Amino acid sequence: MTSAESGSLNQSARRIEGIILVDKDKIITAVNILLEALGDDPSREGLVETPSRVSKMYSDLFAGLSEDPSEVLNTGFDEGHNGLVTLQDLPFSSMCEHHLLPFIGTATISYLPNGRILGASKLGRALDILSKRPQLQERITSQLAELIHSTLRPKGVSVTLSAEHMCMSIRGIKKPGTRLVTSIQKGVLKNQS
Ligand SMILES: [Zn+2]
Repeated sequence: MTSAESGSLNQSARRIEGIILVDKDKIITAVNILLEALGDDPSREGLVETPSRVSKMYSDLFAGLSEDPSEVLNTGFDEGHNGLVTLQDLPFSSMCEHHLLPFIGTATISYLPNGRILGASKLGRALDILSKRPQLQERITSQLAELIHSTLRPKGVSVTLSAEHMCMSIRGIKKPGTRLVTSIQKGVLKNQS
């Protein structure tokens, strides 16, 4: 999947040679308007640098919009290992696209190689790219499983994410500590968890 296919580009984010450039000035304007709309004074000392801080922070939190995880996963190499490969308890964080609040947790990724394996860090890197977008945990899980399946072509793949969502912890039903667990299995690993 390319970044363009993620469907998350807005009108003002510009694209140069396939790289999305976030419109930082527009974020600054938007945060100023937000603070005003909340009834606070964006010109007071404590808030005066906040819009530019938020702009930099959002550029980082959503950096995955400008990157293609399939490029990272296309770096597999041939190796005689045929046993299950598991990356366990990999930390990740993302931003829920419904509330723009973080969800934070861990991922466990397994695949049964079909002759080719991946450097372990590549799976973490692909997870980070998918996470650093406005997201849903269910979508990260299925996108990552599908990407591993289509690029590495293993005999089977399993992806499980477990995370606490701030939109459930500090608002709405207010149930801090609850973890949402999502998982997808493909190929020979289907129905094995
Ligand atoms: Zn949410």
